[in-house]
Amino acid sequence: MDVSPEHFSLEVVADVVVMVPLSGRYHQRLFSYRVPDHLRETITVGQLVWVPLRQQQVRGVIIALQHRTADGLRDLIDLVDPMVSIPEVTIRLARWVAEYYDAPLATVLDLCLPPGTTRQIEMTWRATAAGLMCELGALPDRERSILFYLRRHGEQSEAALRAVLRGSNDQLRTAYRALAERGLIVRGTRIDPPRVQPRREQVVRMAVRDLEQALTELHRAPRQAMALRWLAERVADEPPTLSEFRRSTGIDGAGIRALARRGFIDLSEREVYRDPLATVTFSPDAAPPLTMAQRQAYETMVTALETGTGGRFLLHGITGSGKTEVYLRLIARALRLGRQALMLAPEIALTTQLVRRLAARFGHQLAVFHSGLSDGERYDEWRRLRRGEARIAIGARSALFAPLPDLGLIIVDEEHDPGYKNDAVPRYHARDVALHLAELARVTVVLGSATPSVETFYAARNGSIQLLELPERITAQIGIDGLVHSRPLPLPPIRIVDMRRELQQGNTSIFSSTLSHALAQTLARGQQAILFLNRRGAASFVVCRDCGYIARCERCSAPLTVHYHTESEAEAGAPVSVLLCHACGQRTAAPVICPQCLSRRIRALGIGTQRVAEAVREFFPSARVARWDRDSTTGKHSHDALLEAMVRHDIDVLVGTQMIAKGLDLPLVGLVGVVLADTGLYLPDFRSGERAFQLLTQVAGRAGRRSEGAQVIIQTYQPEHYALQAVRDHDYRSFFREEMAFRRALAYPPFGRLVRFVTTAAHEETCQHRAEQLAVALQKCITDRDLVGWRLIGPAPAFFRRQRERWRWHLLLRVPPATTTQELRAILDAVGPLSGWVIDIDPVNVL
Ligand code: ADP
Ligand code: ZN
Ligand code: ZN
Repeated sequence: MDVSPEHFSLEVVADVVVMVPLSGRYHQRLFSYRVPDHLRETITVGQLVWVPLRQQQVRGVIIALQHRTADGLRDLIDLVDPMVSIPEVTIRLARWVAEYYDAPLATVLDLCLPPGTTRQIEMTWRATAAGLMCELGALPDRERSILFYLRRHGEQSEAALRAVLRGSNDQLRTAYRALAERGLIVRGTRIDPPRVQPRREQVVRMAVRDLEQALTELHRAPRQAMALRWLAERVADEPPTLSEFRRSTGIDGAGIRALARRGFIDLSEREVYRDPLATVTFSPDAAPPLTMAQRQAYETMVTALETGTGGRFLLHGITGSGKTEVYLRLIARALRLGRQALMLAPEIALTTQLVRRLAARFGHQLAVFHSGLSDGERYDEWRRLRRGEARIAIGARSALFAPLPDLGLIIVDEEHDPGYKNDAVPRYHARDVALHLAELARVTVVLGSATPSVETFYAARNGSIQLLELPERITAQIGIDGLVHSRPLPLPPIRIVDMRRELQQGNTSIFSSTLSHALAQTLARGQQAILFLNRRGAASFVVCRDCGYIARCERCSAPLTVHYHTESEAEAGAPVSVLLCHACGQRTAAPVICPQCLSRRIRALGIGTQRVAEAVREFFPSARVARWDRDSTTGKHSHDALLEAMVRHDIDVLVGTQMIAKGLDLPLVGLVGVVLADTGLYLPDFRSGERAFQLLTQVAGRAGRRSEGAQVIIQTYQPEHYALQAVRDHDYRSFFREEMAFRRALAYPPFGRLVRFVTTAAHEETCQHRAEQLAVALQKCITDRDLVGWRLIGPAPAFFRRQRERWRWHLLLRVPPATTTQELRAILDAVGPLSGWVIDIDPVNVL
């Protein structure tokens, strides 16, 4: 902090966010403290400090420092951990996230801190000198027993006292106060040691100049001489740890002490990092020469990177077109420019193919963040980045808040993935936050996808993001020169099978004749097949098996959904009688006869992976079948095990849900079959068409990644659906055109913004009542202020009407696209305290 002469008479004042929950209206409040003299020189924005708050001592983060008078301000107490300081740009990002997503700043800042900085603070009491000597008999009962106990056992926390003394909290508090007023006891605080601390290890350093002479001196201690020689001959940058020294030389504790005593070695302490990648082995890998298309995209982005002009890019490349290779090159260049890189991926584990590729190229410059790390590992990865020792951070959405003081490049892989939306406070979207971070830090940001989100592609079309394309699938090949080259690979053909026709032809099985032939052929060739089921909201619609008619609401034409209470009930496909509209709340009896073709074969859709696996076994008894879904695989190890079994070809047919769509690179897959595409298409969610397109394209992309001759078959009752047509033709743009027409007509994103309000309660009437009240209040605001283009949708029961034993209702507010955070804030404030409501700004999921 600058202490120049004109600031001399002024104090340094820190504005602090306290890391404790404050009640509703105060959740953005800052507290100011005087910085004590001993901290004036070293204090910075972003530091984690102890501050007094009322009677307590709490943690806080400094978000601003000023020179001003400090009259009436209390002193900040101390630094919590001098190493823990959030970079300034991350502080600015946190403030933006808190405001934009209407979340407490302390909650956002918590994401920016390494784990283990939360520490328990206890209020304590102890007897004063007067208290130790006073006459106990003169005191009232309760006070006497408190003082008696403190005299006997010394300082005690309130919690400990509560455990041994009789009386309510209020009674005890009154007694403490009475004793304190008479000067018999005083308060104190006790802070638990931090849960996570740097790990230290002893290391051994050589301390002799003349080795030969030392060895002569040691002629009667051959083991010590040998150990000393080992140390002298060892070639490594870092001195060995004590345990490594013992292990490699067989020397014992006495021998080590003797060497140290003679001054031949030095023992000292060094901090060692807990390295999550330590147990994973990687073979270093060299970059292959880029293809023409890759080179063009790369060079455009590198120019932006080098000139430091920022730049936002969308790398739209079909599955297997070499996007990841381009990311790796960009990261390498950013590193050479002395910058750090941040890479986000929707799902991350140490064994993810993406992490393996990054680690193979960049080794220990990589810091990984994912849910499987221990607190110690996460703490160390945080500090390696903060100190600039690690140069690349890779992780899921929360890696956005990793400390990157030299940030130069941000990559968001699979930017369309719904997993980027956080489903707890703060409900941020990692892609949108990444774009904002790039702006704050003035760095280059690259969004990559084979199936960009409609919002991102729209931004690319109107020029606010620059579009780069990789139109061809490639594969690596060793050339006659012995080097790695690329070879173009055609995308596998996609066929759509009309299941209505199958029924007409008397085929009532899960598999169309086309799919069962293809399965037989694939297995006969010794290749693998993936059968995919979209279970999201499976069994939720009533569809006529003969004509494909879908029951819709008469009032708002949204597809009516089956009145299931829970997601698991829906997945099991229980029989139904009532249908529900999730847009307007209308209930209708389930039809028994199709109004379009009078067929009686009109019922809910629904198949589980188990039924599909059974059907495969029935048709192909010798095939080895495995299931991959939420029920059959628990824990991350079973995922790895399945993946490895698939790679080793211990599995012939893999039946799975959403999970298998995620970027797997399985060389032997010759067939991808989508058992039923319809389930995802008609969810009461305006993104259902987009989701279906993305999911099916990604699933189809699992086929034929190394060789030609693979095929993709999609079974459906709705072959004319635009999303399916676009998947079949590998035609993103035609999908985009149709989707935009629909979004524009309803003013859904990107033509409008949404705010979703969700409430839950033990009784449905409570939900309904609360929802109707909020709707009235919001509508009044809209009318009073004459807000053009603002509209309420609902209230209605949510699609998943019951979660964790509670009913759910929701309400959507649709506002014009340019609506600012302040305008939204004003309305939220005007409708009053929204306790009991989850408010989701720019929701991804509206079910
Ligand atoms: P995407 O990220 O678009 O799915 P990848 O980067 O994974 O694509 O590339 C697909 C395959 O092609 C991978 O096996 C990768 O190793 C290989 N590959 C990518 N670029 C090249 C290149 N320039 N030369 C040779 N092989 C390449
Ligand atoms: Zn019909
Ligand atoms: Zn309706």
